[in-house]
Amino acid sequence: EAKRLGLNKVQCFTSNLQTQLEKHLHVEKGLRRALEASQFELLLQPKWSLADCKVIGFEALLRWRSENDGLISPQDFIPVAEKTGLIVPVGEWVLRQTLAYLERWNELGLCQYGIAVNVSPLQLKSGQFVDMLQHLLQEMGIAGEGLEVEITEETLLDGYEEDPRVQRDLSRIRELGVKIAIDDFGTGYSSLRYLRQFPADIVKIDKSFVSADQEDLVEPEICRAVVTMAESLGMEVIAEGIETQQQRQQLMDLGCRVGQGYLVSPPVSFDEATRLLLVPAPDKT
Ligand code: C2E
Ligand code: MG
Ligand code: MG
Ligand code: MG
Repeated sequence: EAKRLGLNKVQCFTSNLQTQLEKHLHVEKGLRRALEASQFELLLQPKWSLADCKVIGFEALLRWRSENDGLISPQDFIPVAEKTGLIVPVGEWVLRQTLAYLERWNELGLCQYGIAVNVSPLQLKSGQFVDMLQHLLQEMGIAGEGLEVEITEETLLDGYEEDPRVQRDLSRIRELGVKIAIDDFGTGYSSLRYLRQFPADIVKIDKSFVSADQEDLVEPEICRAVVTMAESLGMEVIAEGIETQQQRQQLMDLGCRVGQGYLVSPPVSFDEATRLLLVPAPDKT
């Protein structure tokens, strides 16, 4: 009986692997097609001042509109893009699109609004990212100051100490005038002590500390500690995932000044984002 159960387990395990592999291949094929057939869309989510909910900038968030599977979330395809190396062309597409948005805003006189792009660990480790960034800024004639790069805390912890290239890349990014934000701060095994070590301009408090199925902040003490530490290091703080007025108020009381989240806006299309800048939304405070 035990043997039979054991065997079942193995069969279950291998068939699991089989489906995972099939899914992986399916996604990989789809991603290649998506790049050729322009099935990606880059949405923009506003970042806003907590005091008055006025939009001060954006984060670019990628979507894949697949013919067969509908809208696919980055969490479902970025890992495959990383494993297959497709993250490099996908990341280049994201960067080009972001710079095209900034160019359009420059033409409309909206040059004070910046956009943050997410950069995955493997993109950085490919060693080509900073060259590409520098090249594209030059080619499109855009100042680095309009751009931010979001790198997760995990990526930084993972590569920073062992890999001198990561440190060099981060300094080069900043030399281009591009700001660096530490994304999802608090989710890794980091301690606040690490903040001092990273050459970053902005810290983003992960949404798991801000919102869950409750109206109040999930972890007010952690939020307070991050705000205090970042402040003393001269870094800006952005709280992600603000969904309620209570959370907004509590974060303000802790000294946090900038937020992002469904309370003000989900990620929206470029046209919608531009409309938000040209025709400010009704007061939500
Ligand atoms: P992230 O950079 O931490 O982005 C924040 C995520 O929280 C986004 O999910 C956003 O839609 C979601 N969000 C925003 N406001 C709220 C809120 O009030 N409540 C809740 N519950 N969620 C909120 P999304 O767009 O699905 O992206 C997931 C992750 O995928 C991102 O996390 C980022 O790590 C990655 N990603 C997205 N776009 C790109 C990209 O262009 N390149 C790379 N390498 N990664 C990307
Ligand atoms: Mg991000
Ligand atoms: Mg985040
Ligand atoms: Mg995240």
